[in-house]
Amino acid sequence: MANMKWTEIQSFVDKKALVLLPLGVIEEHGPQLCLGTDIYTAHIYCLTIKEKLEKMGYIVVIAPPFYWGVCQSTGGFTGSFRVRKETAKALISDILLSLAEFGFKNVFGVNAHGDIEHNVAIIEAFREVSEQKQINACYAFDEWRFPHFGLKLDEPWLCPVKPQIINVSKAEVPDVHGGDIETAMIHEFYPNLVDVEKAKSLPPVALDESSVEAWLFGGHIKELSSQGYLGSPADFDNVEVQKNVDDYASRITEAILGRIV
Ligand SMILES: [Zn+2]
Repeated sequence: MANMKWTEIQSFVDKKALVLLPLGVIEEHGPQLCLGTDIYTAHIYCLTIKEKLEKMGYIVVIAPPFYWGVCQSTGGFTGSFRVRKETAKALISDILLSLAEFGFKNVFGVNAHGDIEHNVAIIEAFREVSEQKQINACYAFDEWRFPHFGLKLDEPWLCPVKPQIINVSKAEVPDVHGGDIETAMIHEFYPNLVDVEKAKSLPPVALDESSVEAWLFGGHIKELSSQGYLGSPADFDNVEVQKNVDDYASRITEAILGRIV
């Protein structure tokens, strides 16, 4: 939408288009990757989901990206902007209500950032707006995370996304943050935004079980990884990127299809 004129947006409203809203943050992703990694990734997913839905006959438009989400895990690191949960929630609500005011009937949130507080902000905004019944606002959220958030799987403002069952990485250390998969995604679609030489030089950094909580609840990133990544960026060129994008997009598309009104 950001590249369109208002008249084009109006024609999408008139054609009852579905809206995809990319959601992310601006945060450090190690010394090899740009701060915008998550929002670029969400945008890549949206482009592929759009393609899939259009093949089924739906008309789809992508909303301007929301990239001022909450950096919990990497909070305190240079480049991770401190946006309060309340600010993120209020901003997402305003975006959803604006889309409703334009006349759109369906909007689906597509997120590529895992922090708890960030997801709470999104869930609360989608719930509030959806309860006002001005628009079918539905957030595509990983099914396995529902119980951790006290959710039941039948909330109308959420569409549960099935878990990933394929393996796209050959790294021995999983990509928790700024590892091989994220590096590979950005390298494939925005090659100028990855320092390849740097990525190749980075040793793997793993999160042991006792430090998972410290990571999740934030404020300890420098102790866990002085360079700000958790994973194995050097393995990025062994990642099956297209397979990963297609798998994500297929699972989110399936989730969306169940919730279109
Ligand atoms: Zn990320």
